[in-house]
Amino acid sequence: MMWIGIFIFIILVSAYLRLPLLVWSLLLAAALVGYQILADAGASQITLLWIIYAAVIIPLNLKPVRRNLISRAIYMAMKKIMPTISQTEQEALDAGDVWWEAELFSGKPDFSFLQKLPKPKLSDEEQAFIDGPVEKFCEMLDDWQITHIDYDLSPEAWQFAKDNGFFALIIPKQYGGLDYSAYCHSQVVMKIGSRSGSAGVTVMVPNSLGPGKLLMTYGTEEQKDYYLPRLAKGIDIPCFALTGPDAGSDAGAMPDAGVVCYGNHEGKEDVLGIRLNFSKRYITLAPVATLLGIAFKLSDPDHLLSDEVERGITLALIKSDTEGVEIGQRHFPANHAFMNGPVRGKDVFIPLDAIIGGVDYVGKGWKMLMECLGDGRAISLPALGTAAGKMGSKYTGAYAHIRQQFHTPIGHFEGVEEGLTEIAGQTYAMDAARSLVSVALDGGAVPSVISAIVKYQVMERMRNVINRSMDIHGGHAICMGPHNHLGRPYQLIPVGITVEGANILTRTMIVFGQGAMRSHPFLLKEVKAVHNDDQKQGIKDFDKAFFAHMGFIISNVVRSFWFGLSFAKFVKTPGDKDTSRYYQQLVKMSSAFALLADICVGVLGGSLKRREKISGRLADALSNMYVMSAALKHYENQGSHREDLVLLQWVCEDSLSNIQTAMKGIMKNLPVPVIGALCNFIIFPLTKPYQRPNDKLGHKVARVILSPGETLDRLSAGIFSSDDKNDASGRITHALDLVLKTEKLQHKLRDAFKQGRLENRGREAYPEAKDKNIITETEHTLLMEAEAAIQNAIKVDEFSFSDWKVETP
Ligand SMILES: Cc1cc2nc3c(=O)[nH]c(=O)nc-3n(C[C@H](O)[C@H](O)[C@H](O)COP(=O)(O)OP(=O)(O)OC[C@H]3O[C@@H](n4cnc5c(N)ncnc54)[C@H](O)[C@@H]3O)c2cc1C
Repeated sequence: MMWIGIFIFIILVSAYLRLPLLVWSLLLAAALVGYQILADAGASQITLLWIIYAAVIIPLNLKPVRRNLISRAIYMAMKKIMPTISQTEQEALDAGDVWWEAELFSGKPDFSFLQKLPKPKLSDEEQAFIDGPVEKFCEMLDDWQITHIDYDLSPEAWQFAKDNGFFALIIPKQYGGLDYSAYCHSQVVMKIGSRSGSAGVTVMVPNSLGPGKLLMTYGTEEQKDYYLPRLAKGIDIPCFALTGPDAGSDAGAMPDAGVVCYGNHEGKEDVLGIRLNFSKRYITLAPVATLLGIAFKLSDPDHLLSDEVERGITLALIKSDTEGVEIGQRHFPANHAFMNGPVRGKDVFIPLDAIIGGVDYVGKGWKMLMECLGDGRAISLPALGTAAGKMGSKYTGAYAHIRQQFHTPIGHFEGVEEGLTEIAGQTYAMDAARSLVSVALDGGAVPSVISAIVKYQVMERMRNVINRSMDIHGGHAICMGPHNHLGRPYQLIPVGITVEGANILTRTMIVFGQGAMRSHPFLLKEVKAVHNDDQKQGIKDFDKAFFAHMGFIISNVVRSFWFGLSFAKFVKTPGDKDTSRYYQQLVKMSSAFALLADICVGVLGGSLKRREKISGRLADALSNMYVMSAALKHYENQGSHREDLVLLQWVCEDSLSNIQTAMKGIMKNLPVPVIGALCNFIIFPLTKPYQRPNDKLGHKVARVILSPGETLDRLSAGIFSSDDKNDASGRITHALDLVLKTEKLQHKLRDAFKQGRLENRGREAYPEAKDKNIITETEHTLLMEAEAAIQNAIKVDEFSFSDWKVETP
């Protein structure tokens, strides 16, 4: 029995430590020798054991034997069943970099990767830009005027944005741009977005997909020299048009076509170029754009460029005044006034040098888009979403403090508190997620999977936070008008959800679909090997990846089961006494995720692509691991303030519970139930280890945003804050300030009422308390001032019947 125990121990420890096959085999051999010498075993038994050892271990270690005996057969079987990868899929797979998600996929994340990442930080110049021009720009914005009266930013705001480089945040200085970091870009969009969604979207587009980014990355020197200074100065207003009526999420199906031919251009005849026909819609800035980036499918039927006829998706720049281009109509997206509309082209002729990157980039449009889409997904939209979270934390918390019902601030009711908890916790998660990805971009990475995760996660959390804020504000947020600070953000939710990869698709197709292929340590290698036309090399590569993959699975089974039993208590991780347990749970969930991902791929094979409910849950697990690791990093980046710990705890417990729900959902819905049950036994042997954050923690989290404090300052840092007592949000903070100043007086009045010294409660008691000398004249004045501020803060706008003009100040 002892020797059986020793053999099992060697196998388990080798698997846990992921020892190479050879080391593992030698350890087993050493154990066998030990058994032969020390144990009282018969010669026939020893011989049998050595025969079994030789039959199993030797072929596994001798690669040529292994390849011919095992790998070849599996390789041939895979070749028959594995679906081919389309060119679009291949380009998406090739685009961007693998980043932190690969560690999460590894089952054994190396936290030193995370720890070595710098804190996101603004340079002095960037900080001055945010405190100066951005602050001033925000002061110029009147969102009601923009969205309800002018349906546009004011001409002064447009000019100010152009003059101050708002459309050139990412353009290098040599071309007249500001060349700011991704983090600064995020901070700028967040601040502007907290003042006006329409202005936020207007600024974000030229700084993300708008041709600037494409030009900087792929443009020829002539294109950069000509266009970038014009974009930097705002001489050209750009837009980028990919989507059309017949090609939304499936943009690769666009019918927009360009044909290589000779034509006339700027007075010259017989210019080699492209004749284009296209119809695009939903294009942000299109109605005012002077420079259009257009995606289309290029064909070359007369072989003027090469022997190939269908050249694939290509991107070109077209001046909006080019003959055949039709722009100027507007859509009205969700009651917001950023410019958005269709753009069409009929027989538009452009020279070849209008192709972004020149002819070398013909047909590479999809990859270019995939790589450049990252900025919109990773920076702009998450910045807008986080702005909503920060506003929710600051103003909904304040509103719940000043708004009383049943003689009690509504924030003290447990039902409302639940909403406040979500707002604060989700905001911390959003801020952490967007900050971490900006560090990746500033480090030069193009983390396509993480960008998709951040886009999806922040947009969903934004939706949650705004909905909760709406509930807590009640009618105050429903009645639209210049004093409503929530109605327009609420209407903006579906825009954030839909653009840059609609959320359902992002969750169910992109995150795991791309993530598994790109970040899994072996999957892509196996797929590439199977698709290799050189079969000999294919089998060789497949053999290497396949056996490493098998070892990986065995290791993850052992690790997951052990972590399930030990709750990963013995894993050495970074962090202090408050945080190390969360790092440990991340290790546990990472190995469980790696195992489950392999099980799903193994059980469902190619059909996993269609089983979006499964891949969506895998995406949830991966995304929540990202959010949790980002929150741990964020906490440390901000100085590990103990007062902020409740926020971190809430995010970690929420994430773990989400991961568990996702994993249990997968296990329950695998087509072979016994495999699901087995996975459940391995990963969660102690049933459900994670619970949603409890009410006690939720209470502490809600308290963070009910009153001002340093934690709330950190949580809401970076948004625009108005000192105007009549501003939509400024009036709420002003009222809160006075409510806090009069809190002691309110206690005094309540005590007096309870003791029977006052007949009235609430504001009716103020004059009585003054007359009875319970409060002084000055205190009475302060109470009246606070009361006036509260009334002003809870007021909603009224309009006359006749001219729909606002009547409130
Ligand atoms: C305000 C606004 C601004 C925009 N700005 C631009 C711009 O500047 N440039 C540009 O090119 N485009 C722009 N777009 C277009 C935007 O990117 C598209 O709206 C988006 O790609 C979705 O396309 P669709 O609206 O046609 O929805 P559809 O593609 O019809 O999708 C409808 C629903 O089906 C889901 N779905 C589709 N396929 C799948 C699948 N395989 N699996 C699961 N779910 C799926 C989607 O997630 C979505 O929920 C903008 C759109 C809006 C609304």
